[in-house]
Amino acid sequence: TERTLSIIKPDATKRNLTGKIVAKFEDAGLRVIASKRIHLTAAQAGEFYAEHKERGFYGELVAYMASEPVVVQVLEGEGAIAKNREVMGATDPAQADAGTIRKEFALSKAENSVHGSDSPASAAREIAFFFSGLELV
Ligand code: ATP
Ligand code: MG
Repeated sequence: TERTLSIIKPDATKRNLTGKIVAKFEDAGLRVIASKRIHLTAAQAGEFYAEHKERGFYGELVAYMASEPVVVQVLEGEGAIAKNREVMGATDPAQADAGTIRKEFALSKAENSVHGSDSPASAAREIAFFFSGLELV
């Protein structure tokens, strides 16, 4: 069994969509094993998305992620990393498959409602970024 880090982003928490999004993960067989609502500072959002530092959208991404509270969660299940990304859908909602979170809820390529780790190495880093070992049971 595998773990991945999920973030319900500002556009979704603002529109009170947390429960509907979590239901999609649960319906796909993923289990929420840790969860908290936090308001990232710009410095924290910038560190989290450091891999995108050189991209043109980085400043916008950091400001957006720090604009409203987010819900960060650890999801567990068989093939959790791939399954989570399947349920999220493509980065751009216009490209996302029917039934995915981004197809149903995302506002744009930037305000796309959810984040999910993209590899085992990212999942390990991102889970440790937000949660201590004591919070993971
Ligand atoms: P995430 O890492 O958030 O799960 P992703 O892996 O599908 O999404 P990335 O390429 O890692 O996509 O981009 C990280 C985030 O940066 C996107 O989810 C989106 O919010 C934002 N982003 C990506 N590309 C663009 C773009 N061209 N313009 C504006 N924002 C973008
Ligand atoms: Mg990514």
